[in-house]
Amino acid sequence: MNARHGSWGRILRLDLTTRTTDVEEMEEATFRRHPVGRAMIAHYLLREVPRDADPLGPENVLIFAMGVLTGTPLSGASRHAVGAKSPLTGGFGEAEVGGYWGAELKRCGWDGIVVTGAASSPVYVYIKDDVVEVRDAAHLWGLEIMDTEDTLKAEVGERLARVCEIGPAGENLVKIAGIVNDYKDIAGRAGLGAVMGSKRLKAIVVKGSKNLPLANAVKVKEIGRWVADTLQENHWTFHNFGTGMGLDGYTKFGGMAVRNYDGGPFEHAAEISAEALVEKGYRIKMEACWACSVRCKKVVRLE
Ligand code: SF4
Repeated sequence: MNARHGSWGRILRLDLTTRTTDVEEMEEATFRRHPVGRAMIAHYLLREVPRDADPLGPENVLIFAMGVLTGTPLSGASRHAVGAKSPLTGGFGEAEVGGYWGAELKRCGWDGIVVTGAASSPVYVYIKDDVVEVRDAAHLWGLEIMDTEDTLKAEVGERLARVCEIGPAGENLVKIAGIVNDYKDIAGRAGLGAVMGSKRLKAIVVKGSKNLPLANAVKVKEIGRWVADTLQENHWTFHNFGTGMGLDGYTKFGGMAVRNYDGGPFEHAAEISAEALVEKGYRIKMEACWACSVRCKKVVRLE
């Protein structure tokens, strides 16, 4: 295996029709052209999905694509992309998501997963480093997100395993269904949860133990520390309020899809902005994705 810095050069191929797995070792030239994320997704969709494929048929391909930085100790480097032909638009479907799952998959030694075919009955996949198992998931079908993750962590006996999954919306092929990981991070665009449901793939559980190959691990750590140390001067507002910050401004210049862009500015935006959530005492703390010192994720309590 020819490991590259920031990546392993390995893609997990998962054919659910035959319930078999394979390893695709990515050529250096291919990796340079379509290394990660959206580019990797486009590479597989263009190469493998027939022009008239039904997005909810077995010919569609579902791709989980990590980034070069996913799994490194850098702020913002937790994120990964998911893609397929979209059942919502019939076009290129891609969504991006944070949390811990992507970093954990990278720590298993994989840069991505390409899921083809469709299982005849519900399954989930358990990945522990190089070991990949396709397991029966009939007992999980119908469970919502929280229950699915809790059940699977207990079942594989790994409290710190990371899970991505679909809930009943994805199972029932709802065309706006997303794919959730870590209980609450969601790849929410393009109806990718329905694609996962059409393949009868309930969840992917990952537990990794490998350190990502980095060209200069000391320098990467140094940069991570610099972000943490300069947070107050560079990211103070994002750190304290997250993405809901400035909602009032966004809506004024037409950046919010109020009634599907039919409604103009939303007159009550300031009342539900991140600043308002803090002022009204709803925000109880901020949380983070993998290794991120920005911690932009609000946790709110509504009585
Ligand atoms: S905590 Fe916020 S800034 Fe950090 S990786 Fe997650 S989404 Fe990005």
